[in-house]
Amino acid sequence: MSDVHPVVIVGSGAAGLTAAVYAARANLKPIVIDGSLPGGQLTTTTDVENYPGFPEGVMGPELMERMRKQAERFGTQFIFDQVAECDFTSEIKVIKCNQQEIKAHTVVIATGASPRLLGLDAEKKLMGRGVSTCATCDGAFFRDANLVVVGGGDSAMEESTFLTKFAKKVYLVHRRQEFRASKIMQERALKNPKIEVIYDSAVSVINDVEKGEVTGVEIQNLKTKETHDLAVDGVFVAIGHIPNSAPFKGAIKTDENGYILTEKGTQTSAAGVFAAGDCVDHVYRQAITAAGMGCMAALDAERYLAARGLDT
Ligand code: NAP
Repeated sequence: MSDVHPVVIVGSGAAGLTAAVYAARANLKPIVIDGSLPGGQLTTTTDVENYPGFPEGVMGPELMERMRKQAERFGTQFIFDQVAECDFTSEIKVIKCNQQEIKAHTVVIATGASPRLLGLDAEKKLMGRGVSTCATCDGAFFRDANLVVVGGGDSAMEESTFLTKFAKKVYLVHRRQEFRASKIMQERALKNPKIEVIYDSAVSVINDVEKGEVTGVEIQNLKTKETHDLAVDGVFVAIGHIPNSAPFKGAIKTDENGYILTEKGTQTSAAGVFAAGDCVDHVYRQAITAAGMGCMAALDAERYLAARGLDT
């Protein structure tokens, strides 16, 4: 048996698993490399109310589990590993993972995006110890707490509002006067009596690394440069995402922010390599659009293989 797989899919979120369902049903025996967060970002959410076909809503992890089972049902094989680097220069593509090397005729990149961080030293050290990038995952740990949420987009509004279910007080810290968030999400956050907005400001220090927990932050007003301390128990960073395209650096073209460039559907700059979902799309970023692109990528891979007689 050839050790070159027809289709290797990198990533197991909505895009990757949908690509797997389509490729598996086309009898292409896809391999899915799970990555560091099997199921992708939807596994870190609670209710998903806008995925068609679920009129009562569905929990994010359950939706991903169902997609995974659907892909498995048609013969998808899953590999728990992470891609380190790739060589797409030949007909046969080489994917170097941490534990093994995988060869493929076609590759679907569906690696999603990861939360952007502020870049403070304490942020990483206190991640999971009071610092979080996911209110729906960690909010319940902060009952009656005082919290900071950083950001001015829909995520920051959504997370602040959600956190008021548990917290005593939420300070929403934004670096400008105007929010980027949609009007409806802004209004919901701004009329919430537990939320206090701190405009034109940044979190400049997070305390206390020594204690191994969040005890407070220093807030800097970016206009006056003045600082003041806030005693809080947690910091939620909601400042957008970074596409997970680092393992493909140099092998395919990306834009200046690292989003993978595609043309004619999902074709990347390397022949036989397709990309789908949040690693490509910084505009829509929805479960359903990622799934739709995953479907497109699988169909594009299938056509690529058929044109070369490699689809059997
Ligand atoms: P976003 O729209 O890119 O907003 C990021 C926010 O973080 C911006 O306000 C930005 O400030 C701020 N920011 C970026 N880097 C920062 C830094 N280093 N320090 C401090 N602040 C920083 O990201 P998002 O809110 O995650 O939303 C992403 C997409 O998902 C959007 O299309 C959004 O509509 C969608 N979304 C939708 C929902 C929903 O409808 N339920 C929920 C969440 C997200 P500036 O404004 O100054 O640039």
